[in-house]
Amino acid sequence: MSLIVHKYGGTSMGSTERIKNVARRVAKWHKAGKQMVVVPSAMSGETNRLIGLAREIQAEPDPRELDMLCCTGEQASVALLSMALKALGVDAVSYCGWQVPVRTDASHNKARIESIDDTHVRKALDSGKVVIITGFQGINANGDLTTLGRGGSDTSAVAIAAAMNAAECLIYTDVDGIYTTDPRVVPEARRMRVVSFEEMLEMASMGSKVLQIRSVEFAGKYRVPTRVLSSLTDPDMPLGQEAKSGTLITFEEDEHMEQAVVSGIAFNRDEAKVMVRGVPDKPGIAYQILGDVAAANIDVDMIIQNQGVDGTTDFTFTVHRNEYNKTMELLSNQVKGAVQAREVAGDTNVCKISIVGIGMRSHVGIASLMFKTLSEEGINIQMISTSEIKVSVLIDDKYMELAVRSLHRAFELEKEQH
Ligand code: ADP
Ligand code: ASP
Ligand code: MG
Repeated sequence: MSLIVHKYGGTSMGSTERIKNVARRVAKWHKAGKQMVVVPSAMSGETNRLIGLAREIQAEPDPRELDMLCCTGEQASVALLSMALKALGVDAVSYCGWQVPVRTDASHNKARIESIDDTHVRKALDSGKVVIITGFQGINANGDLTTLGRGGSDTSAVAIAAAMNAAECLIYTDVDGIYTTDPRVVPEARRMRVVSFEEMLEMASMGSKVLQIRSVEFAGKYRVPTRVLSSLTDPDMPLGQEAKSGTLITFEEDEHMEQAVVSGIAFNRDEAKVMVRGVPDKPGIAYQILGDVAAANIDVDMIIQNQGVDGTTDFTFTVHRNEYNKTMELLSNQVKGAVQAREVAGDTNVCKISIVGIGMRSHVGIASLMFKTLSEEGINIQMISTSEIKVSVLIDDKYMELAVRSLHRAFELEKEQH
């Protein structure tokens, strides 16, 4: 009997009515003879609410206690979904991550899954039950609860599908698939029938929040057939039709029918820019600045170094906005003196826009069309970075929507690609 994993996000679990619909959908798959593992998120807004409560008490909440708190959101969801299935006459059992157990490393608030023991889950499945497992959470070697970072239920679901060798992992959400860009920003965005794993990985890394990046990494590493589809359709729609809907992440490039040069646009408002200006230009400067930043466990993304005046150089890089204050403190208190910089400055009103497509490997002129489009809109580019299949620019945050819409139009992403 084939095993299917379903994941339902916050909106899909957003009310008891929606939870009853999820139960009807899961019951339909179960009745069709599938073994079912279901991984729900907390009800929409719940994780934010919990984090808000924590911040009312501690400005920087204790990481271990924050995990204890946030795990309750998913715990409520699994229990309610199990009840909804029982109310439909379907035998179900809910488990928290620690009961499975889903083992993670020690880092609270952004833990990584290390292993999943599926013994209990298999037993329950073999006795005919639908198994419901909390998304977003696990247990570390000290026996403490951990969470996997925002959007982490995607990763829970794909990791469980990988560990249990599931036939497919279906990620049900509030859109009917992966679009050329966030349809909330560009209404003309087009749903892709398939997207290559590499493009999806790049889109997720560049800030497209439809899937958590680690879920895409898991899907790639273990070749988990993964599909993103809507939970807001009629739960009783024919299973065959539902199973083919949405967007499939494909690992075969020739299966990738839409050989567009640019397939999608991602944007990310989670970064901040920091600048170390007027540093004497000599070997070892980058190492001296970034070495201290890395030692403080701060991830750096884009970097540029340019010639200043009088034998000095300016060094600019981006960090996650959550780490901006920490970075500025480090630069001002430690690095500025050590590298004899004239000044340290920062800007949080920035946004990174990326165009992504495997077709870029074999086409030239893509970056220049991007730059031309932005210049025609009068948008200044502050930083640029490229990889084989993407070009990213950092711009003023206030032009984010304008930039994404004009690029979407310039690359004709609204049109079906062949
Ligand atoms: P869930 O709660 O189901 O995990 P998320 O809010 O995490 O849902 O992800 C779904 C949202 O991702 C959509 O509502 C959409 O606004 C956003 N999104 C961003 N980029 C894309 C994209 N390229 N395609 C589809 N949705 C996207
Ligand atoms: N509830 C968690 C969050 O809001 C995990 C998830 O939804 O995937 O980030
Ligand atoms: Mg999500």
